[in-house]
Amino acid sequence: MDAVKKRLAKQVAETMKGIWNSGMTTATGGNISVKDSEGNTWATPSGVDKGVLTYKDIVCISPDGDVISSRGYSPTSEFSFHRAIYETRPDLKAVIHAHPPALVSFSLAGKVPELHLIPQIQRICGSAGFAPYKISGSEDLAERVAEQVKDGHNCIIMENHATVVAGSTLDEAYQRFEAFETCAKIIINAKRLGNLKNFQNVSEITGEPGLKEYMSGSEPGRHQAEIAARDRICEFAERACRHNLLLSSIGAISVRLEKGDFIITPGGKDRRYLKAGDLVRITDGYKEPGIQPDISWLLHMEIYNQHPEVSTVITSCAPYSMAFGLTGTEIDIKTSPEGFVLLRNVINLADVNPWVNSREVAARLSEDAPCILAENQALIVTGKKILQAFERLEVTEFTARSLIDSLPIEGAKRLSEKRLKELKDKFLAI
Ligand code: 13P
Ligand code: ZN
Repeated sequence: MDAVKKRLAKQVAETMKGIWNSGMTTATGGNISVKDSEGNTWATPSGVDKGVLTYKDIVCISPDGDVISSRGYSPTSEFSFHRAIYETRPDLKAVIHAHPPALVSFSLAGKVPELHLIPQIQRICGSAGFAPYKISGSEDLAERVAEQVKDGHNCIIMENHATVVAGSTLDEAYQRFEAFETCAKIIINAKRLGNLKNFQNVSEITGEPGLKEYMSGSEPGRHQAEIAARDRICEFAERACRHNLLLSSIGAISVRLEKGDFIITPGGKDRRYLKAGDLVRITDGYKEPGIQPDISWLLHMEIYNQHPEVSTVITSCAPYSMAFGLTGTEIDIKTSPEGFVLLRNVINLADVNPWVNSREVAARLSEDAPCILAENQALIVTGKKILQAFERLEVTEFTARSLIDSLPIEGAKRLSEKRLKELKDKFLAI
């Protein structure tokens, strides 16, 4: 196997393993394939434990249908719908089928998650369709799936089974798959909480243009503090992804260097595997050449400009917090000492687009309200240090989860004013 092919087979195996590791499929459930430039398709084997695959397990199917497998494996039993997708939409070069629990819930209910509810997710996924039930591995099923991709859907719910998602690369297919599952989680969590607000089919989420690039060679030199900050951001981005606080394609972390000068995670790069050089430094309306900052950069910049005490900003689509946003419900952090002492207040902001009305949103933050839930757009957290912002993100999301999970056991209550005052006097007195 030449180096290029080995890399492709490795990517298929690693992606499938990653999906199992993050609980988005069962050990033998699901399959992945990728089409290479010579027309070969590299697919996971059928009926094998997908949690321990290596590149040697990946099966190659030639354009003529010949199967090459060093281990004597057959390709996935769902190969007919993988092939049908490639034949119907030549722009699609990678397919992921798996059984992630929230999307399976939609599939059992015969419904499709409404992507427009969360614009950041819709931006990654495109549009979603529905393939009526047909028995696994059949040409009938392949036809139903092909009809959906023909209609332009990249993400498909397969009735009483699961999901299939496609992309122009395996990375893109994975980003869509993960974001689609997150959308399903958010909607399920929101429906546990109450009625969803009526969000229109919006919205522009490109940050205002206008960032110029440094002239080549005029970049500020990287001092020790910046080098350390870059490493910390990469470390926290990876940890945040591991706990569903950031997605591989959604969410950003930035750290202030001095005054309005900051470094931020890039757009379009997998947040799980960032390296120090992937981050983008923004100085006085100029950015480093050749790399794009995350779409939220303008908001981060406004926050640093307006709040000298803030040195870290994180924007996130964490699935329990966002459920509160979709229903317009407050995440009552005054229910636990950790929530109150760390967060004081999480503000709900309605009818505002933080990527466009950045100045207005930034103005709502204060030391007494370091976090904002901008409805169906994002959770925005700030801190004096990266650890403080990360902790605030975790505590907001954990509290949101505990509040939702406490619904069936009933009786969750806020700390009394007396207890809040006691906590304030003991932990928040200056
Ligand atoms: P394979 O192991 O044959 O790919 O099947 C898994 C699956 O999810 C079938 O729908
Ligand atoms: Zn399946």
